[in-house]
Amino acid sequence: MVSKRALRGSEPLGYVKPMGPELCPLCGRPLEIGASVDEHHLVPRSQGGKQKHRVHRICHRKIHATFSERELAQSFCTWEALKNHPEITAFLRWVANKPPAHYDNSRRPARRR
Ligand SMILES: [Zn+2]
Ligand SMILES: [Zn+2]
Repeated sequence: MVSKRALRGSEPLGYVKPMGPELCPLCGRPLEIGASVDEHHLVPRSQGGKQKHRVHRICHRKIHATFSERELAQSFCTWEALKNHPEITAFLRWVANKPPAHYDNSRRPARRR
């Protein structure tokens, strides 16, 4: 667990992005233009989390499909913890070969008849 004080102290408000392509903190692939990108709060906003991280939409969906808000807040509020979970490890292995813009559209609910 990272203490709240540590989180506050390490990220100044005017956070400057590093040079070069921005990488997804989950899968490590670049967040290219054209890729579907979401923002994830490592600490859920309901728990006072303010830090947003840009991640692929497909990665973001995987996080929330695997963990509840409670689990995220209590045990999985670091990228390390997320990546060490077997579900996520398997997902990362699968997604590594996909182009960054890849997004699985096949799981749309088919409600129309
Ligand atoms: Zn990603
Ligand atoms: Zn999220």
